Amino acid sequence: MENKAYRGHVLVLPYPSQGHINPLLQFSKRLVSKGLKATLATTLFIHNTMQPQSSSSLQFDTISDGYDEGGFAQAESIHTYLNHMETIGSKTLADLIIKNKNTANPIDCIIYDPFLPWALEVAKKFGIFGAAFFTQTCAVNFIYYHVHHGLLKLPITSTPISIPGLPVLELEDMPSYISVPGSYPAYFEMVLNQFSSSDKADAVLVNTFYELEPEVVDSMSKVCQLLPIGPTIPSFYLDKRLENDNDYGLNLFVSDSSVCNNWLNTKPEGSVIYLSFGSMASLNNKQMEELAFALKGSKFHFLWVVKASEEAKLPEKFVEEIGNKGLVVQWCSQLEVLSNKAIGCFLTHCGWNSTLEALSLGVPMVGVPQWTDQTTNAKYFRDVWKVGVRAKVCENGIVEREEIEFCIKEVMEGERGKDFQKNAKKWRDLAIKAISKGGSSDKNIDEFVSKFINS
Ligand code: UDP
Repeated sequence: MENKAYRGHVLVLPYPSQGHINPLLQFSKRLVSKGLKATLATTLFIHNTMQPQSSSSLQFDTISDGYDEGGFAQAESIHTYLNHMETIGSKTLADLIIKNKNTANPIDCIIYDPFLPWALEVAKKFGIFGAAFFTQTCAVNFIYYHVHHGLLKLPITSTPISIPGLPVLELEDMPSYISVPGSYPAYFEMVLNQFSSSDKADAVLVNTFYELEPEVVDSMSKVCQLLPIGPTIPSFYLDKRLENDNDYGLNLFVSDSSVCNNWLNTKPEGSVIYLSFGSMASLNNKQMEELAFALKGSKFHFLWVVKASEEAKLPEKFVEEIGNKGLVVQWCSQLEVLSNKAIGCFLTHCGWNSTLEALSLGVPMVGVPQWTDQTTNAKYFRDVWKVGVRAKVCENGIVEREEIEFCIKEVMEGERGKDFQKNAKKWRDLAIKAISKGGSSDKNIDEFVSKFINS
């Protein structure tokens, strides 16, 4: 039987995708550094794919979404997947709590991703402290909060849109579920449902830091008690207080970092464009072609992550023809890449983790947002944080090669590029400060821990 004295045992439940596992896993490590035991529960399918290794205080365990053999890809539709996840997830989450009940460290807190709001009901059934962990920006959460509570009526009929604490927004700055009515209804319902019971949560954590969004954190704090605790990035890249914490540690895709490092290390400082569209986005053939031609036509080196599922969309012989000018990989350690001195800019889909990683590592960006919250993140990094540009989309929905080349030049060598670099460095310094001892996020983490320990 375990006999180590922990201050408490938290069970952490991410939505099963890379962009949700990374921040929740990273937050678990922070809690372990504060003397807690943490168990990260992924779906059985993800667990079998990633094979995470437990340590004495950070454990991995499983629940089921009902698709143990193939995960989300096995489901008939998004709607079916989410329904199964709720019914089977609730039951298997309860089983996991019961399994831990008569051990030396029963679970006394559940930190759940509000994409899975039913987890709070399970926690409450067992009388366990329940904390919601929002993985998107406070600005995006507050937009959904307004829609959920009928404070922002849809469809939007007049612009610009004013929400307290946010800059005025045009339709193109809104999350795609709002700007493109009817798109992905099941996901739209899911993001709004984050607020279906969050007022009953014992704490609300957000993966941002106060200095990044002070106005919106202040505004939203009037309606719910928020604790910004980010950035949830391995400590090695920020405060260096956690030992051996230089990687998220769970990758759905395989990469060989020596290939990227060896290649990048031969390139001059600030000379390489890094491109990635994250773990989920799928570009159409025309968009891939425009990107490929823009990169071929530009004078800069590039490192492009093209997932295995996207490779067939590259123009024929692209990889052979670019020679040493570019490197195309199926996946990489993004943090290692972003922190390499050779990187001059990040052409990104503006997923929140990617954006926060670039801000935290001081890398200017070119935004080519695809869907969900990415459009709002692009608005913020262009107009609020001022660390990059957003590429203009043509009427056919494509960002054309000339526009891509223009944006890359703006960031890599334009006059504004110098300001972007200066601002990016400022955000990096603020991110480090927020998570370091006594910083705004560090204090919020301590507040959270004492809140549940004393509950
Ligand atoms: N990532 C990575 N290697 C890659 C591409 C992405 O490690 O080649 C990581 C990245 O660091 C980030 C996550 O995958 O933590 C992607 O999350 P994000 O929110 O940016 O986008 P999503 O995948 O959810 O669309």
